[in-house]
Amino acid sequence: MKAAVYEGPCNVKVKEVPDAKIERATDALVRITTTNICGSDLHMYEGRTDFERGRVLGHESLGQVIEIGKTVDRIKVGDIVCLPFNISCGHCANCDTGLTAYCLTLNPKPGMAGAAYGFAGMGPYNGGQAEYLRVPYADFNCLRLPREAEEQQNDYVMLSDIFPTGWHATELAGLLPGESIVIYGAGPVGLMAAYSAMIKGAAKVMVVDSHPDRLRLAESIGAIPIDFAKDDPVDKVLELTKGKGADRGCECVGYQCHDSQGNEHPNLTMNNLVRSVKFTGGIGVVGVFLPEDPGAPDDLGKQGEVVFDMGLFWAKGQRIGTGQCNVKAYNRRLRNLIEAGRAKPSFIVSHQLPLSQAPEAYLHFDRRDDGWTKVVLKPTG
Ligand SMILES: [Zn+2]
Ligand SMILES: [Zn+2]
Repeated sequence: MKAAVYEGPCNVKVKEVPDAKIERATDALVRITTTNICGSDLHMYEGRTDFERGRVLGHESLGQVIEIGKTVDRIKVGDIVCLPFNISCGHCANCDTGLTAYCLTLNPKPGMAGAAYGFAGMGPYNGGQAEYLRVPYADFNCLRLPREAEEQQNDYVMLSDIFPTGWHATELAGLLPGESIVIYGAGPVGLMAAYSAMIKGAAKVMVVDSHPDRLRLAESIGAIPIDFAKDDPVDKVLELTKGKGADRGCECVGYQCHDSQGNEHPNLTMNNLVRSVKFTGGIGVVGVFLPEDPGAPDDLGKQGEVVFDMGLFWAKGQRIGTGQCNVKAYNRRLRNLIEAGRAKPSFIVSHQLPLSQAPEAYLHFDRRDDGWTKVVLKPTG
């Protein structure tokens, strides 16, 4: 089969690899029809992780089930399914309580919890930027979609990661209807966090970024864009909240955070959040931070540590929630919002390309070239 393969830093090739196949009785085999490039793929693309060369990328996938293992019961051949980026067993202590991002059985690395498709440090599973994908524990992991989903794949595929992850950011922050929220980062996840906040009835949604194309999208859904290349974002948020600070804040950038000159400061958004969220406010952190970052510019960063403004955070009595999204905690209800016409997350899609153009897509998306906000790939052409 054809697949997008990591060949080394800034080098992705589409090439022939062995076909994905059923390996265990609980697996399903899915023919992928839509798969996205994610901002978190870029950490691997840039060589900032220990992702192995030769592996297939991709953790945001939708397709049709073409074969099932002997013990798969609920899912049938022909079903159109969206796959959560988390792969989870469904029976461990964490899965059992809905914390599927922290599955205790599927990551073979000692001391690690959580598994994902085509992701550094999250198990040996190949990714979905390919013609076929093996889905472990298919009954638990497949989200079945309505028939109409075939015509609306660019909406439904966002259920694999960024729509639930954006929603999760607002949950971790503790957002309630009528509150204000500031979201740092208007990449796909930040835009989905803003979109989720709008759906949940936030009174004021502020989005901080410096890319005009992304800020325009934030504005198009009713958020207030804040361009940090022009304004100090903390001053701006305080001004917009009568000096009080936002009720809630979301971190949707991660450790490769840049200032307006392009210099990397892994602590920049975290400390800006502490300053721009109110006393006793909540902060949700879904941007990726890594326990080790060998490519970091300094020793602290190499060990995954950041200089965090603990004093002000403590003095303000704020709360932080962190980590990857338990996609299954939200994906059925978010699917229903799409089905009912109440959510249309494909508004962020800028490019729909055949899988063969994955190398160019990675290049443009990684450079944050103007207008490349979200790429969906079609392995079927
Ligand atoms: Zn993703
Ligand atoms: Zn589990």
